[in-house]
Amino acid sequence: MTSELFQIVKEYADFEAEVRPWIAKLCGPHCSVCETVCCRPEYCRESIDSPFLALLRETYPPQTKYTAERGWLTPSGCALACGRPPVCYQFSCRKIAAALPDDSHRHLMNVLSNLVSHAGKRALAGRHIVEIMDAAGLAQVKITRFHKRLDEARKAFEVIQAFKMNGRLPASARTVLSKIAPVPTFPTPQNRKVISRRIS
Ligand code: SF4
Ligand code: SF4
Repeated sequence: MTSELFQIVKEYADFEAEVRPWIAKLCGPHCSVCETVCCRPEYCRESIDSPFLALLRETYPPQTKYTAERGWLTPSGCALACGRPPVCYQFSCRKIAAALPDDSHRHLMNVLSNLVSHAGKRALAGRHIVEIMDAAGLAQVKITRFHKRLDEARKAFEVIQAFKMNGRLPASARTVLSKIAPVPTFPTPQNRKVISRRIS
């Protein structure tokens, strides 16, 4: 592994480790009692097949072994601390969304669930970093390019963290969040009539 790739692996893992507890806090109460758990061995498989995710797993090895029947799923959840397939964070669970107080929170959940994936986007000629299937390709990923996506994801994460603290979104939030996921138009007293005309 080149020193540049090692640095990318480390920074990606650090970011994943920062975001993961926020997602766990949001999902944990629902997933722990869920009767239709959405983890599947075929989703886990990407962590084996993707060279980048394999590097993460080797650098931060899980305590439990992968099995064909259950993948990384254990009775206490996913065994992977780092190197989960990004799709595992991009959940779109109605049960969790329905428990949130309003559309603003649901939008922030959508952004949160896309942060880890965003960090690896367009790493090499339009390919996501987990989709680069050869060592030579991975070695070509430029850290400056990776930093651009990581910085966008970090700024959006900071907006979410600030919102959690003070319940407010600054005027600049829309631009920052829209880099990660489209910002929907939420009904307000001012725009409600316009929206209802658009959907009628
Ligand atoms: S994300 Fe939703 S469907 Fe999946 S395990 Fe959690 S509660 Fe169940
Ligand atoms: S979260 Fe873990 S156990 Fe669930 S599908 Fe992803 S890798 Fe597999």
